[in-house]
Amino acid sequence: MLIKTLLNKVERFKSFVYGAVYVKLVDGVEALVIDIEPRRNSRPICPECGKRRNTYDRRPPRLFEYLPVWTFKVYFRYAPRRVSCPEHGVKVEALPWGHGKERMTFSYQIYLSRWAKRLSWKEVADIFETSWDTVFRAVNFVVDYGLAHRSLEGVTEIGVDEIAVFKGHKYLTLVYQLNAGARRLLWCAPERKAKTLLRFFQEFGKERSAKLQFVCSDMWAPYLKVIAKKAPQALNILDRFHIMRKFNEAIDEIRRGEVKQFKANGQENVLERKRWLLLKRPENLSEKQTVRLDELLKLNLASIKGYLLREDFQRFWEYQRPDFAGKFLDNWVTRTLQTDLEPMKKVAKMLSKHKPMILNWFKAKGQLSSGAVEGLNLKAKLTMRKAYGFKTLKCLKIALYHTLGKLPAPDYHHRFC
Ligand SMILES: [Zn+2]
Repeated sequence: MLIKTLLNKVERFKSFVYGAVYVKLVDGVEALVIDIEPRRNSRPICPECGKRRNTYDRRPPRLFEYLPVWTFKVYFRYAPRRVSCPEHGVKVEALPWGHGKERMTFSYQIYLSRWAKRLSWKEVADIFETSWDTVFRAVNFVVDYGLAHRSLEGVTEIGVDEIAVFKGHKYLTLVYQLNAGARRLLWCAPERKAKTLLRFFQEFGKERSAKLQFVCSDMWAPYLKVIAKKAPQALNILDRFHIMRKFNEAIDEIRRGEVKQFKANGQENVLERKRWLLLKRPENLSEKQTVRLDELLKLNLASIKGYLLREDFQRFWEYQRPDFAGKFLDNWVTRTLQTDLEPMKKVAKMLSKHKPMILNWFKAKGQLSSGAVEGLNLKAKLTMRKAYGFKTLKCLKIALYHTLGKLPAPDYHHRFC
């Protein structure tokens, strides 16, 4: 009796009542089962039109998994009616706690998906003694609901980013909303081609695209082309995060070349395990790392020269006026082109070619948070790292929407996590 009282507090269905409560073996394990019956004289709802229709017949009872209590799994047991709809024929009725062939109730799916935001999907499956696939379906349900019910109004600032997945064999294109207070993942899809981003703009719609004021992106030519075509009114900004990433890629390329050289010459590999010393900003290093970096800086290595060029370039971001920043950029490019560091020279040429778009960063300064893209990129990477078991891009997409999409959740009374 108490269980029914509690259930009616958290999960009351207008046209249904709770019946007997008992313990029963389900899949070989003792579980708590609660019968559900339709209210007397109530008529079933057609799943197609949502109208109440006459009962055609009744199907055998089915189990619907609900939230576990203590150590017991909990199931609703209900024999669905079939409706006879003059418009849609004979259909299994729509139910307020679950749908289709899915065995989980809506509440249980929402409950699992909430845990899946905090833990890896595998951990959630372990804790609730269920399968990884069950957790996947739960998250998928919540994400589908959220995508169908979210609002895309008021999006005026977006960032386009790409992430290498599956050890760099594939790419995902991500589009973020960057408006202060509303930063979230708007869209993601495999590949990073022009047509990938074109699809985003198609789905986003002409009207909304026309309202975009800022688009942050990196120097990836297919993206730049599409942005210029689909949001010509927006200021396309090559942002700090994406530009500094190019520097790091160049430094890493130089470092790898030198390591190879050391090996070929039989020299001591002084760069061994020094990768992060070079890629991190000096202010982010620990004291011990700083000492090691100082030792490294004394050596006359190409990696170090690249590193110093990058650190020198950081001054660029401190300019207040675009024209002064532009002069600094030209100067830096000239100096870099005089070195023999090919990867760095490539960066210099790229910067030179895209100078106006880079200077847009200064035009938008104060209106656009410079760290927004970087923050979202980090979170996306963290989601992927936590996500061992994501073997397909589809799973990965769902996980990203789930953790970064700020999607509206279905109505839900329980606040267990
Ligand atoms: Zn109907």
